[in-house]
Amino acid sequence: MKSNFRLPGPTAVPPQVYAAMQHEMIPHRGAEFSAFYADLLARLRRIHQTESDVLIWPGSGSAGWEIAITNFLSPGDEVVSLVAGAFGDRFAHVASTLGIAVHRVDLPWGSAFHPEILTKAFDQHPNAKAALLTHNETSTGVTHPIAELAAVARERDVLTFVDAVSSAAGLPIEFDAWDIDYLFSGSQKAWMCPPGVAIAAVGPRAWAAYEHSTFKKFFWDAKAMRDTARDGITPTTPPVSLDYALDAAARMIEDEGLENVWARHVALGEQTRAGIEKIGLELVAEPGFESNTVTAVRLPEGRSAKTVIQQLHDEHGVTVAGGQAHLADAIIRIGHMGWVDADDIEICLSAVKDVLEN
Ligand code: PLP
Repeated sequence: MKSNFRLPGPTAVPPQVYAAMQHEMIPHRGAEFSAFYADLLARLRRIHQTESDVLIWPGSGSAGWEIAITNFLSPGDEVVSLVAGAFGDRFAHVASTLGIAVHRVDLPWGSAFHPEILTKAFDQHPNAKAALLTHNETSTGVTHPIAELAAVARERDVLTFVDAVSSAAGLPIEFDAWDIDYLFSGSQKAWMCPPGVAIAAVGPRAWAAYEHSTFKKFFWDAKAMRDTARDGITPTTPPVSLDYALDAAARMIEDEGLENVWARHVALGEQTRAGIEKIGLELVAEPGFESNTVTAVRLPEGRSAKTVIQQLHDEHGVTVAGGQAHLADAIIRIGHMGWVDADDIEICLSAVKDVLEN
């Protein structure tokens, strides 16, 4: 039976995806793997709307931050980092930990980054080589206007590194048309897979920057991954069963149709927000920038997220997440990405109503 698992990651995994993982093991340096791998990467390119490279590593989404910094920058380089939630904060943190000079622009959590803010940041920091951007801030349920932000960076000839961990495969991403340089995600979100695969798209300007990067690289070396992929292999042992899962999920996305997947997420987002409004609760997100993959909901004064989450689970079999950092006990987050439909959301909303009214 399909559980009502409404975390904003990991997400519910469809039976077809679990079934794909039952595939018997094959040599990862053989013709069968090579053909499968080439086909999978082609599917991932189509879903990212790119003719550039899409690469996969064994790893969680966080690998994507480190891949960005260590492949396309050098120690001491300057970047502008837009922070309005836990994951924007983490991107900035990873960059400074690795030796990058990070110019943070902090907004209150729940705000969206409007393009003028990035323009101003570039005016203040004209030597910035990259902009660290979060497409969908999972901690606040905000979708930042990434196409517009990327356009500002492009005008200044600054690279764009985009965390799309909770948007890729759910929200529209047009890697080439939006002229993004690097964008990453993780298998356990809208990709409908178990955790364990990091997915990254790399464009031509990022590859050019790679040639000047002086960071030492080994496991996260993107060029090694790209060059071996061209020969149908991987630099280290691939997570074969997870790759089968990702392939099955990518096929489901293609069967449904990418635009239909995007439209379904829009409808799920609208349904969730309408239901929350009807219950009389407020959203964390700035109006107009609410995410269609995750909704962050402020609880009434005096209600503890921890208790509400426990009650939703125990009394209704519905699993949602709490907040992060200062919002930990003040909000709940409802995931509506990946393998989810209108009935799932209806059940979740009526459970929230019941718990809060009783
Ligand atoms: N970025 C965003 C926007 C996320 O939502 C998450 C995880 O929830 C991450 C990065 C980190 O990914 P992982 O936990 O897979 O390492």
